[in-house]
Order: sequence, then C-alpha cells, then structure tokens
Amino acid sequence: MALIVHKYGGTSMGSSERIRNVAKRVAKWARAGHQMVVVPSAMSGETNRLLALAKEVSPAAIDAAAMRELDMIAATGEQVSVGLLALALQAEGMQAISYTGWQVPVKTDSAYTKARIESIDDARVRADLAAGKVVIITGFQGIDDEGSITTLGRGGSDTSAVAVAAALRADECLIYTDVDGVYTTDPRVVPEARRLHTISFEEMLEMASLGSKVLQIRSVEFAGKYRVPLRVLSSFTPWDIAIDEEAKSGTLITFEEDEKMEKAVVSGIAFNRDEAKFTVVGVPDKPGIAYQILGTVAEANIDVDVIVQNVSHDGRTDFSFTVHRNDYQRTLDLLKNTIMPATGALQVSSDPKICKVSIVGIGMKSHVGVAAKMFRTLSEEGINIQMITTSEIKTSVVIDEKYMELAVRALHRSFGLDATDEQTA
Ligand code: ASP
Ligand code: MG
Repeated sequence: MALIVHKYGGTSMGSSERIRNVAKRVAKWARAGHQMVVVPSAMSGETNRLLALAKEVSPAAIDAAAMRELDMIAATGEQVSVGLLALALQAEGMQAISYTGWQVPVKTDSAYTKARIESIDDARVRADLAAGKVVIITGFQGIDDEGSITTLGRGGSDTSAVAVAAALRADECLIYTDVDGVYTTDPRVVPEARRLHTISFEEMLEMASLGSKVLQIRSVEFAGKYRVPLRVLSSFTPWDIAIDEEAKSGTLITFEEDEKMEKAVVSGIAFNRDEAKFTVVGVPDKPGIAYQILGTVAEANIDVDVIVQNVSHDGRTDFSFTVHRNDYQRTLDLLKNTIMPATGALQVSSDPKICKVSIVGIGMKSHVGVAAKMFRTLSEEGINIQMITTSEIKTSVVIDEKYMELAVRALHRSFGLDATDEQTA
C-alpha cells in the first residue's frame, strides 16, 4: 500500500462525464489498496471565464486590494471541481471528502495572484486517509496570515499537488495531463521526438525553464527541494487500463542518476522562440557598467536572459543581452533614452527576431566535446551563432529566429534523439 497523490488538469475535469471518469480512475487506485489524495484544477476554461468576468467589472484591477479580489474570484473554479469530484467518487461507492486550500489549510504568503506556499497542515488529511477516505484538495490556492484567499499563479495546481505530496511524504505524485509525458523536444517541431521514460529532476528544471510547458516550473523546483517522485502521464488512457501498466506509463522525474540516464549525454532540445537581442556598442570599459545597463533594465521589471560582454578595445567594450520579445520596444527606448546617455555608449543595435536553442543533458557533466558537437552541427547547417551560454548540464545558443526549426531538427538528429521509444525502454 502506498500514499499516492493524483493531479488532474482542467481538460480531465472538463465535463461531468470526464469527472466521472476521473472518479473511476481514482476509485481503481483506492480499491487496489492505496491511500489517495487528489488535487484537481478548475474545469477547462473556467479560470479564464472567471478572470474575464472580473475584467468586465473592473478593467484595470491591478492594485493590491484588487488583486486580493481576483484571487477570491479565481479560487472558486477549483472549489467547484473538488466538490463535483467528491460527489462522483461517492456515487462510485467510495468514501470521499473535499477541502479548499483554506480548510486544509495551505498557508501561503500574501503575494496575490502569485503566492508561494509556506506550509501545509497535514493533520486533517491524514485523519481522513486513516479513516479510509479519498481526500480531494483544491489546486492553485491557499490562505495567507490575514485569512485572505490567495492563488499561486496560472498553472499553479501542479505546484499544489507537489506541495501536498511533499507535506504527506507521498510515495509518488502523478500529474495527469493532456500530453503523455515529457518529450525529447516539441513533437510539433520534430515529428521524430520521442517520450522519455525518465528524466532527471535537474534536466526537467532546465527543460521547463526553457519553455517546455508540461509542468509549472515552480512545481519542479518544489519536487526537487522535497525530493517528491513525480510522474507526468496521460489522462486520455481509458480509466480501466491495468493499474500496473498505468503506474509505469508517462515520464518519471527521478533523482537517481542511474546508468540509463548516463548513457544519454543529451536528453532533450529545448527552445525559446520569442526573444530579442540588444548590443550596446562601445561602452567605456570600467567598473559599474554592467550594473548601470542591467540595473536600469531590471528596475523597469524587464527580465534579462542571456548576457555577453566582449573583451575591450581602446578602453571600450560591447555588451549584449536578450529579453522577451514583448519587452523589445520598452528595452530599446530605455537603452536609447536613458542608458546610452548615462554610460556614454557609442551606439545601440537590436534584433527583435532571434531565438534560443539549448541542448540539455545530465551526461554533459561527465562528457567532453558535447558543446563542440553542437557547434559543428549548426555550422554544417550554415547557421550563425550569435551568443553562447553554458551551465553544467546545458548549452544554449542564440540564433536568427528563421533557423530555429532547422537547428532543433539537426541537433535532435545529431545527438541521436531521433529513434523509437523502445530504444530507451
Ligand atoms: N485553474 C488554474 C489555471 O487555469 C490553475 C491550474 O489549472 O493549474 O491556471
Ligand atoms: Mg497545467
């Protein structure tokens, strides 16, 4: 017998029929002898609908008082879900009880619309589990010190589920979603992409932060911190699939760097399409310049991604960085109107159409020549590299956006990721 947490996304909860199917799947696990906690999202489209209503009433709801009310409104979507799922389980002949975040309670800070979980009281949940009940807890929300309802940001139910699993020291947290696992890259770009049976937590974190949107990144951070075994699997398999088969499906995010994982030097190719690049040309090469440039950008709440500073010539240097394309114009204005005059830079050049492509793999820690192979592959395709950054398990290049798909496909092939699923089994 194990303690298992299931998380179901909005699509799985999207209609009464689907909710009945979720109930049947959960009942199957409970009948197999497992203690079950379920964290569902709101029914698909519901959070959008609620937030759109809020916008109709007050288009410019942005101060703290308004944010509090947005959370009050958005949190109701999950409340409906847990009640419906508890009812559906009861109709299956199971004992089931639902709780909202504040009833558990799931304590968070007061950063409305993007609160962080601080603690979860497991007493109530444990008592129910011991009494043989299936416990259903709202995703996406908690309560702050003042007793106000908070939400964790869009996609936050993943984080709720992992946090609940951590608090209960669950044996595994299963995230049911509309993809059947984590892929070597986006199958829409590379049809030969294949599902990974396992991926290390560190790799998953890189893949998630690089734009593979399978899980909310904070849930991966949480899983890493509390060592929660996490599995991403499909909610579209029939509910009555054999439990042993289901328990092995999808992608397991692991902590042990087992042999199999070491064999794959590169596990995946990630990419970010929507970046823009700036170069501040001829800034005086003296202490404080990087701070003057990036400090000003950060004050405007613009996230900077890749940063490169060149060697200097005649006391001047070039400084390049990338931001999200949505911030292109704002950044350009800042550079021209504020940063250039303040630093005495000679010129600013910009390119709103670049992208970042990365190879990710834990094997890069122990293999040499991986980055060189990446550069060779790109050069064989005639793709010019504009910037390079590396970490222990990742090498990223910034290239012209129009070569993105070509680069991803070529790298996927050259690192041996084009293959049948069975080869990694
Ligand atoms: N219902 C929330 C959202 O749509 C939370 C979630 O589904 O994870 O963002
Ligand atoms: Mg989601």
